Amino acid sequence: MSGERILVVDDEKAIRDILSMFLPKEGYDFKLAVNGEDALLAIGESAGNFDLIISDIDMPRMNGIEMAQNITRKIPIIFMSGRPSSLERVRLTNLPNFAGAVGKPFSLEDLSNMIKKTLA
Ligand SMILES: [Mg+2]
Repeated sequence: MSGERILVVDDEKAIRDILSMFLPKEGYDFKLAVNGEDALLAIGESAGNFDLIISDIDMPRMNGIEMAQNITRKIPIIFMSGRPSSLERVRLTNLPNFAGAVGKPFSLEDLSNMIKKTLA
């Protein structure tokens, strides 16, 4: 089962830490990035594709929406944010890779269900 590769993008270390513990337990392989720019580099350097991106929206240097607009590959993105206005903005922006959005704090169960649904 699984083994899919997930790119986690968040400037908040606490979120990167939680997902670093959680995703392997669920059987996923993951890589971390700290902002949109860093994520684009990781995607460019990866030999294979990522199956999924889980990304924060508000980040320094390059936010999650700008990141999504610069990804040319077809990789579904689940966005997360603690700001309702950011969640609304990401839902209203027509992003081809948009796969869902969760508010912070989120339950790992909800996130897990969204991941499974997206990868199915
Ligand atoms: Mg942030």
